[in-house]
Order: sequence, then structure tokens, then C-alpha cells
Amino acid sequence: MRNTGLTNDQNRVLQGIAVVPGVVNGSVVWFRHGPELPRRGYRVKVADRPAELERFHTALDEVSESLREQSKQLTGVTADVIRSSVYLVTDRGWVGPAERDITAGMTAEAATGHQIGRFIELLERRGGFAAERTADLRDIRDRIARRLQGLEEPELPKLTSSSILVADELAPADIAAIDAHSVGAIATIRGGLTGHIAVVARQLGIPYVTGVTDLTVLPEGTSALLDGVRGLIIANPSTVMVEQRLASDERHREQVEAWNGPAQTRDGVHVHLLANVQDENTIDEARRTEVDGVGLFRTELCFIGHSTEPSVDEQASIYEKVFQAFKNRVAIRTLDSGSDKPLKFAQTSREENPALGMRGVRIGLQNEELLIRQLDAIAEGARRAGLSGDDAPKVMAPMISRVSEARRFAALVRERGLIPGIVVEVPATAIMAEMFMREVDFCSIGTNDLIQYTMAADRLSADLFELTDPWQPAGLRLINTVVQAAKKCGKPVSICGESASDPYLAQVFVGMGVDSLSMAPNAVPEVGVALEKWDMRHYQDLAQEVLKAEGAHHARRIASDYFAQLKDMEDRMED
Ligand code: PEP
Ligand code: MG
Repeated sequence: MRNTGLTNDQNRVLQGIAVVPGVVNGSVVWFRHGPELPRRGYRVKVADRPAELERFHTALDEVSESLREQSKQLTGVTADVIRSSVYLVTDRGWVGPAERDITAGMTAEAATGHQIGRFIELLERRGGFAAERTADLRDIRDRIARRLQGLEEPELPKLTSSSILVADELAPADIAAIDAHSVGAIATIRGGLTGHIAVVARQLGIPYVTGVTDLTVLPEGTSALLDGVRGLIIANPSTVMVEQRLASDERHREQVEAWNGPAQTRDGVHVHLLANVQDENTIDEARRTEVDGVGLFRTELCFIGHSTEPSVDEQASIYEKVFQAFKNRVAIRTLDSGSDKPLKFAQTSREENPALGMRGVRIGLQNEELLIRQLDAIAEGARRAGLSGDDAPKVMAPMISRVSEARRFAALVRERGLIPGIVVEVPATAIMAEMFMREVDFCSIGTNDLIQYTMAADRLSADLFELTDPWQPAGLRLINTVVQAAKKCGKPVSICGESASDPYLAQVFVGMGVDSLSMAPNAVPEVGVALEKWDMRHYQDLAQEVLKAEGAHHARRIASDYFAQLKDMEDRMED
């Protein structure tokens, strides 16, 4: 079914979305998921049902145990992701109904297929973080299916460091099972920039391209070059091309490893590269990286498992840490509870569309006491770190969509001697950016949400990744509108969504005029190296050209053609 299409088309380019940088020359190895489980089937006699139930539980225990064992061999975020899969295996949300199906006479296979299938549909309807777990659920369903059939769990195909593992979709457990050095690179059809597979691949440093819709034209064993910087795969590449790309990647790797800031364009214009943090670990990681400060502290992620609101004192001691580490170079965001990050102590009743519901500052302004206690805690954390007056930290509100909200938020922040700002992530705010900028002292553009609301596409849906591609020109135009409004009002503007860590988009944003880019600390050197490649005027030209694009792929092509021409011109001048 998949092995059709491509013959010996030399240098055929398949475009996808770059997730983890790196260039690998190798051959295609397909990873295929197990067969679908039946979702119906009442065949078990009454007398055999207790044994069927036991068979079901044995399969669950075996899968949990093997995932637990796997997580023990791993560290960091990869281990966390696998541990969270163990919870899914025994989640009563599907296991309870499956037990009832079996007691009513279904086979364990059918009950598993039926209830995990329903669970997947439910999570897909809920969207956001919930929908992101469906790849994990499909993986668990496959593992249970194989155990029920007396087989080992899905095995990865035999891989080497020159294998390009390709799949429709992968679950974190699949790639966590492989050592970073035993696979060259990964490419998938489905999967977003922020899904678990991306998180794990990033941690393991495996070059990864997703969204390659025509990946199925590559038969098993095709010779291919995967470029995780440009987000493409070249089928049957010529020897000359392979040599050129590998050599230039090696030079690039050396530059990235040697990079130690500060970030600037080739003609010396300084750009602040900042870190996105969310807890003590990421604050420590940011300290070990060449960053100019923290551009986004996602405070809600510190309290995600808490059932009660942390006291002002408890909050202040967390905030104090980031202020001690980075002094006044911190933009702290007030709680962005709701949607994919609900906090138990700051949420409203169930909503049909939580991403469009009570979220972020909407909750804070409805329950002002909650917001005020957090602002008091931030002020107290700043006081303990000796920051005040001009050195006061910046505080920004998520999900601002009305000028009156910005005004009220700014008043509460200023009353506490802090500096108010907003996260621009709703198209309404971007469209009227100038009015908003008169109310606050700075803004940061949250491109993850801005693109999801602009394109009306769930940012975490693996199926909608083409719509939520940060190169979508509608999103880029809104970003440009915000940047120009901030410049006009003389206020600093930053970008704090994931797109800031795309080296090419970083060049485009700098060309638009942003003052700073905030990203996961491990993305900083790659962006720092990219910015040093050309002069500010080149980035300004580039931004104008990219804004003319009609689609995301077109925008990327404009950028790569622009740089190819520039390089050509400079090479000719040197000759
Ligand atoms: C964003 O939306 O781009 C952003 C930075 O906020 P979060 O990802 O936390 O929603
Ligand atoms: Mg957001």
C-alpha cells in the first residue's frame, strides 16, 4: 500500500516541516503499526468471561511493566513522557468500560478496540493537550493487541545510524526505544511541532521532519537525504548533492557548538535571545545557556498538579529564584489556566470549546483576587531579589483580547511597582495592536496561539499541522502588524511562541524589527548562528518578500530562494 510511486527520480524533493535540525544521508526504513483491533464482537460464553477478563488484565500488566522498565533506562523529558503512557494503559476512563464490555461477553481484543477507540474520539473532540495524547493511545492499543495475541510488543525495524525511520505517525515509546545513535533521522506524515514525538526527538537530538504528506511515495530502502533544518527529504540524491549538504552541515554543527553569544547580525546589530522557562529545571538550563534573560515564564506550569492555590509566600519563593538568576531581565506571565493547561484551582465549569473559553487573563479578571494574589507574589519575589523601580520585573497577561482588559491589567500591575505587558495571541489584539500598545509598556507575541486562532485550527492536532504551520502568511502578516504598532509606539516587542526557535523564521522576525526572541534554551545557539549569517538590511528585505507569500510552503521557498540568490551574488563578488 505504501510502497508505490517513486521510481528512480533523482533529487526529488519532498517538503515537510523542520522540527529537529541536522542533515542525514541514508536509506528509508518504514515503521508500520500493528493491525486495527476489532471494535465489536460478542463471542465469549458466560462461563469463559472471568478468564477473558483475566487475559485482558494480564495484557495490561505486561504492557505497563514493559513501559515502566523502558522509562527506567531513560532520563529527562523522555522518561516523563513514557511514564505518562503507563498511566494511560491503566486509565479507568477506558479500562472500566472495557471491563464492563468483557463482562457482557466481548472478547478482550474487541473491548480494547472499542473503548480505546471511543477514548480517542473523545480526546479528539476535546482538542488541545488532550488530542495530543491520541498518538500515545493508538500506540498503547497496538501494544495491548499484540500481547493479547501472544506476541511481543511492536518491534522497531532493524536500524542503523544511516537509517531514516519513516512512519505515518510515531508514539514517544517507539523512538524512546531507540538509542539516539542507532537511527539517523525520522520523518512522519502526521505530527506537530509541539507533540510528544517532537519533544522526545529534540531531547535525543535526532533530526526530524514532520508533515511530509507525500512520504508514501518512498519505497522501503530508497536512498534519501533528510534535511532537518530546511524540513525536507531529497529522494535518490546525487553524490555531489550528498557531499555538499553533509559538508555544509558539518561546518554548521561546528559553528553551533562553538557559538557563545551574544546574538547579533553579521553587521553587528544586537538581538536579544531569551529563554522560555516553566520551573526550576528550565531556569537552571537557561542559566547554563548564553541567553540575555527570560522572555516567558509560564507560571501555570509550576502548579499544574496542585489541587489548591499556592499561597503568596509559596509563589513568591518560586518567582524569587528566576529574579535572583536573571535580575530584571525577566518577563513573567500570569497564570494561563484553561484549555490545554487547566489548573484545578483556577478553572470554570466544563466547556464545549475550552480553547475558545475561559482561559488566561479572562479567568484572572473574572476572579480578580486570584490575579491580585499572584501579582502580590511576583512583587514579593522581586522585593526579596532586591528588584524595584526601573529594575522591576516585567509581567504580562496571556489571552488579552480587549483594550479594557489590557487597561485593567496594567493598572493592577503598576499599583505593585511592576512593569505591565501583554501576550499578543488573539487575532483581535494583533489587528488593533496600536491601541493595546498605548496601555502597556511592552508586548510579546505568542505565535502558538496566534496561529491556531488565525487559522481556526487546533495547535496540537496532528492532522491540522499544515494549517498551524507558523509559516502561514496570514499569521506572519498579523505578527508584522503587531511589530510595526509596537515600533510606532516606541515599545519593545518580543516573540515567545515556538516559531522563534526556527532559525529561518527568526531571521524573518528580526527583519520585521522584533527586539528579542524567546525560546527553549537548547534552541538558542542554532538561532544565534543563523542570525550571524547576513546583515540587517538582508533580513529586512527577506521579511518584505516573505510577507508576499500565498501559503506556508511558498513562504519557505521564498526564504530559501532569497538566501540562495544572496549567496550566489556574494560568491560571484568574491571571485
Ligand atoms: C503562545 O501561545 O505562543 C505562547 C507562548 O503561549 P503558550 O504556548 O503557553 O500558550
Ligand atoms: Mg499561548
